[in-house]
Amino acid sequence: MRLLIVSNRLPVVVSTTNGKFTMEKSAGGLVSGLSDFLSSLGNKDSDIKDYIWMGWPGTNIEKEDEDLVREKVQKEYKASPVFLSKKLMDKVYLGFCNKTIWPLFHYFPNYAHFNLEFWREYKRMNEIFRDELLGEIREDDIIWVHDYHLMLLPALLREKVSNPIGFFLHIPFPSYEMFRMLHKESRTKILEGLLGADLVGFHTHDYTQHFLRCALRILGKENHMGKISMPDHLVEIDTFPMGIDFNKFHTMDVSPYPSSKPGKGKPKIVLSVDRLDYSKGIINRLKGFELFLKKHPEWHGKVCLNMIVVPSRTAVGAYRKIKSRLDEFVGQINGSFGSMSWIPVIYQYTSLPHKELIAQYRRSDVALLTPLRDGMNLVAKEYIASLTDQRGVLILSEFTGAAKELSESVVINPNSVDEIAASIAEALTIPVKDQVRGNKIMQKRLKRYDVTKWATDFVTSLLNISSISRDTVSTKLLNKSLTGKLVKQFHDAKSRIIIVNYDGTLVPYSKYPASAEPPDALLGLLQTLDARARTDIVIISGRGKDELEEWLGDLPVNLTAEHGSWIREAGKKEWRLLKPLSSEWKQEVIPILDMYTDRLPGSYVQEREYSVAWHYHRADIEQASQLVKEVNDHLLSITTNISAHVLHGSKVIEVSNSGINKGELAMHWLSRKEYDFILAIGAGWSDELLFQTMPPHAWSVKVGLSQTAANHVVEDQTDAIELLNKLRDH
Ligand code: UDP
Repeated sequence: MRLLIVSNRLPVVVSTTNGKFTMEKSAGGLVSGLSDFLSSLGNKDSDIKDYIWMGWPGTNIEKEDEDLVREKVQKEYKASPVFLSKKLMDKVYLGFCNKTIWPLFHYFPNYAHFNLEFWREYKRMNEIFRDELLGEIREDDIIWVHDYHLMLLPALLREKVSNPIGFFLHIPFPSYEMFRMLHKESRTKILEGLLGADLVGFHTHDYTQHFLRCALRILGKENHMGKISMPDHLVEIDTFPMGIDFNKFHTMDVSPYPSSKPGKGKPKIVLSVDRLDYSKGIINRLKGFELFLKKHPEWHGKVCLNMIVVPSRTAVGAYRKIKSRLDEFVGQINGSFGSMSWIPVIYQYTSLPHKELIAQYRRSDVALLTPLRDGMNLVAKEYIASLTDQRGVLILSEFTGAAKELSESVVINPNSVDEIAASIAEALTIPVKDQVRGNKIMQKRLKRYDVTKWATDFVTSLLNISSISRDTVSTKLLNKSLTGKLVKQFHDAKSRIIIVNYDGTLVPYSKYPASAEPPDALLGLLQTLDARARTDIVIISGRGKDELEEWLGDLPVNLTAEHGSWIREAGKKEWRLLKPLSSEWKQEVIPILDMYTDRLPGSYVQEREYSVAWHYHRADIEQASQLVKEVNDHLLSITTNISAHVLHGSKVIEVSNSGINKGELAMHWLSRKEYDFILAIGAGWSDELLFQTMPPHAWSVKVGLSQTAANHVVEDQTDAIELLNKLRDH
């Protein structure tokens, strides 16, 4: 098995301009974490024997150098480059990704640009990735797509390949109120794009819940224990907090860099490490440190804030602004508080290799990490892991994903400058014994759930869910050879019955149910099918008898209305009840449903002679799903004493006479005669009871790829008609 990693950026940035060829490691948590996992692959027992990483190598590459770049990154990084023009990436990477998605998903809507051209180009870039991937994908590949640049890719790939597809988001998934600020097409397509995967992973339980809520509110997709049914597969949405390579940070020899804490008489070090980004709360941190110095003159000369700031997205205006603000502020603090012998804020605008970074972690007495929002924050985990003597205090923002796992640290709200200042004073005085105790607990946790465990868990879950999905859906598909078998059995049979549902099977589902009249071709098909000797046709529907009679009354077929309350046998004019029914119970049920209709705008009651339905497909989906349980319970409590029962369908609750459903109805027809060929086809929720009651030798076929009690499925309504045409023409 080969793991195909796809991310916007490759782990390396290549440049070939001005005749100079350079390759530099990319910055950030995704590359850092995944590289550690991939390099561990060769050392352990794993089904994954190989990997390849696809992504963008940067824009400073001359056209004529592309072959050379391809060769070099393949050899040195096991990578396959996707070349994208600067013009495209200005709109996509700097545009939609970093000016729309990034600010919105980090709860900075005031920084967000909503630009349709950015969005169009984002779609185009995802399609380019898909096309490049199609040339690379092998049958034994597991595809793992990463991060917010490629959220449309899972669905684009699913249309073309059947490999397992996983997606992991490395940034927060925002609440519904924030996500819905995206314009309609993009918010819908992003959710659908992600749901093209078999498994979608997030860092925290909150992000997972936010996603599920958006899927419900925007797409109307309900989940069952975190699983969402899509037409042709099942998607699992789950939480996988990304870990780090604990052993590397804990055991790395960092010489020649000094890595022990400054001794007595030397200033204590408060460290911060992050990319220059407004989401990291860098300015608030400086404000907090300034306030700490104001409030605690006793610490003057005895503490330094050592800030490592990694250059990032310098082409985006908002990032350039924050850089000048930062430069100014550092100068202001050092000017106000510093002296010849003491610089309060030491600031490096650079990216350090891990060896040097780990040395910095070990030398620091305190790590001060104050993001206003951060998907995970690996630096926090790396700091704790690096402390070989377990001495050091982590101050961590509650708005990072990592705070969920590092609760023994000093957890703060970085929006409060006072809280930051107070936490620094607290951290500097925590007794060593308590530091060691808390850090040991956190180290144990980080060691157990390290980056390898994270990635292995993800891949195992992905293989699991994709095999369940394929078992339940694809293996039931009525393929060519099964269809041939079905047609042959029909041909050879002495007596045959076809029980077929109307809406969704004989005609497509219609937005306006009253206009779902049968087309002439269908009438012709039913006429000739029925005319063949030895075939009984039963059309079953939840519709009322008047409608069915008007549309299908002239055909020599058996009609049944209201899910089987009414029957009109072929060749007869009159309708009769399947069995003696009462409608008295409606007086009790309708007022209850009316009351809930008042409480749920958009819902309505549909009354028929022997059944009542409460529809809520036009109502607010979330409000409805909360109320539905109450309606169901209420109806069940009264129907236990009357001769009616409650059925829960797709966005409808229906009450009808006990013993009236499509299953009972099918039994009625099957008990009248011995049939050696039985075919039941249906598309809706009420057809599931029909499938469940079919005898073992029957063919039951569900229209639409989804979980079903039927033993076969066809993709859509046109396939159902095609099947009937084949029976007619056999
Ligand atoms: N990092 C680094 N050199 C530096 C600063 C940071 O290699 O000078 C790495 C750090 O080790 C961490 C990653 O960059 O793995 C930052 O990840 P994090 O999740 O903290 O933030 P992100 O940049 O992904 O928002």
